[in-house]
Amino acid sequence: MSSNIKIQRICKYCKNEFTARTTSTKYCSHKCNSRHYKEKIRETKIAKSNQESKEEITFSLEVIKAKEFLTVKEAATLLNCSNRVIYYNINCGYIEAVNLGQRVTRIKRSVIDRLFEVR
Ligand SMILES: [Zn+2]
Repeated sequence: MSSNIKIQRICKYCKNEFTARTTSTKYCSHKCNSRHYKEKIRETKIAKSNQESKEEITFSLEVIKAKEFLTVKEAATLLNCSNRVIYYNINCGYIEAVNLGQRVTRIKRSVIDRLFEVR
């Protein structure tokens, strides 16, 4: 709604000062309004997808925990480290693993659990 009043305002998007004609005006232009709107939508989308990937990780962790034999990648996920660290520990004999074939290394889950037991 337009009226005869003139109020100095700061645009919520570009932070420039402008003259508003209604008390509810928040943006200097329609452009700023829609840009700010789009930005908010984008932030919501990013937050949503971040949440989804977080849930995915939790889900795969649950799946891994239920398995008896793990791949190197799964063991790395479980221990929150890289594949390289797992391979290093296998080579050093810290982690017992069975090599069923090229690139088919399996680690028993109980071996991972035992790593944290006091020896
Ligand atoms: Zn503006």
